[in-house]
Amino acid sequence: MTRVLGLGIPASPGLAAGVLARLAPARPTIRHAGTPADEAGALRAALAQAIADLAALIGAADTDAADMLSFQLAMLEDDALSEGAFAAIEAGEAADSAWCDALDREIADYRAAEDSYFRARASDLEDMRARVLRALTGAAELAIPAGAVVLGADLTPSQFLAADWRQGGAILLTEGSAQAHVAMLARARAVPMVIGLGVAPEGAREALVDGGTGRVVFDPDLDDRARFTDALAAAQRTAAAHAEISRKPAMTADGTMIKVLVNLGDPDELAELDPAICDGVGLVRSEFLFHGRDGLPDEVAQYQAYHRILTWAAPRPVTIRTLDAGGDKPVPGLTIDAETNPFLGTRGLRLSLAKPEVFTQQLRALARAAVVGNLRIMLPMVTLPAELSAAAVLLDQVVAELAAAGIPHARPPLGIMVEVPAAALTAGDFGADFYSIGSNDLTQYTLAAARDIGSVARLGDAGHPAVLQLIRATVAAAVVRGVDVSLCGDAAGEPGLVPALLTAGLRSLSVAPVAVGRTKAAIAGVRLP
Ligand code: PEP
Ligand code: MG
Repeated sequence: MTRVLGLGIPASPGLAAGVLARLAPARPTIRHAGTPADEAGALRAALAQAIADLAALIGAADTDAADMLSFQLAMLEDDALSEGAFAAIEAGEAADSAWCDALDREIADYRAAEDSYFRARASDLEDMRARVLRALTGAAELAIPAGAVVLGADLTPSQFLAADWRQGGAILLTEGSAQAHVAMLARARAVPMVIGLGVAPEGAREALVDGGTGRVVFDPDLDDRARFTDALAAAQRTAAAHAEISRKPAMTADGTMIKVLVNLGDPDELAELDPAICDGVGLVRSEFLFHGRDGLPDEVAQYQAYHRILTWAAPRPVTIRTLDAGGDKPVPGLTIDAETNPFLGTRGLRLSLAKPEVFTQQLRALARAAVVGNLRIMLPMVTLPAELSAAAVLLDQVVAELAAAGIPHARPPLGIMVEVPAAALTAGDFGADFYSIGSNDLTQYTLAAARDIGSVARLGDAGHPAVLQLIRATVAAAVVRGVDVSLCGDAAGEPGLVPALLTAGLRSLSVAPVAVGRTKAAIAGVRLP
């Protein structure tokens, strides 16, 4: 066995060592064509079986996994997907090959799509192809051994969810996408993952994986193993130190207190999160409510979700962002499909103002939930002061209606995300009750490098002097206006950027829950001028 080094693209950080489990592109075609009626009946039964299996899996899954599987369920239930297969069966093909050919064409279209969101959904279609095929042929689902380093061209969400990752393991993909559902799942479950490895060495048996750098050692020698053991021990020490520091208030080396809040994308995260580690919730991405398979959420469903988060955090403040659909976050039936450049299109507050019936329902649920905690409402993708004023008018109307109906409510402060360069440069012109800088979008719009296009990822540096200048301008406007300013983009959770952000004047950062410890540790190392 010869040691081989691989370098791919990091998709989920962490270290792992294990035996390789190769995913063979299995495509057994074992049915012989019966009459078209028999074959059509077999495909219908297999589709029904796959739909029932998926519905059962969704029932048992947590919110993020259920959302992903719901996407597959909705597609399987749509007759348009199987139309081609039934036509081929009519022409004399066997059900399994007709289904595979129809799905292969669909998968090829998804892979060739211009929009990276659709390219990243191709593995969902592979998952669906395999699930229906298993139902047709009676084949068993490929099992990933616990603790294994999975190696393949791509991995489907079902394969990921069927594996037990509690004993370690990692994912190595020769292709793959960092935006694919499986990559999101890997990050949420802390499973190291490297994508885009190109070719993998034939016959390799084991691998050491660094998901943070994308480095892989296949069939490591003794020196590699010793270095890996040292790195793992160091990572474990760092994790323990971060867990310890996350329970303490954040303070710089010169004694300046810094607020550290958490970002939430799914209320299910709260179950394992101690509110004592944070100074509140700096960003709730309310999009999670709009991705269910039952269409848009009603006022009651929204109220209950907001109530849950406010109760968890109380008395700490909670900033809930109104729907930020569009861009890389399409919501079927709501966002506009045909935009050539969705990141510059009808996104965030622009969409909410274009759909006042959806927006006012969200504002109503928020104003009602505001009585149970310390709520602030935040508007995404704001460009002009007039947009904030239009939203404020709608909020005031909602509040007046609730008052007239005698429904308990409160009028929360209304702030804006500063993520469009124009808003940063003119921040002082907005009558916002607070500002929160969205460094992810501010960076992509400032450097003209889309956040979901890997080939320009190098340009997307939130520490670029131009981005820092916009952050300083926003902080200066907040200071003049005497209102709160925070930063809730991923830059706040990058230890290397924390000194620059604090030097730019920020005293409040909101980060993903996993980043609280490392952010507080980075803050402790900063000595402000
Ligand atoms: C941002 O743009 O920095 C942000 C926090 O919002 P999102 O990542 O949800 O667009
Ligand atoms: Mg944003």
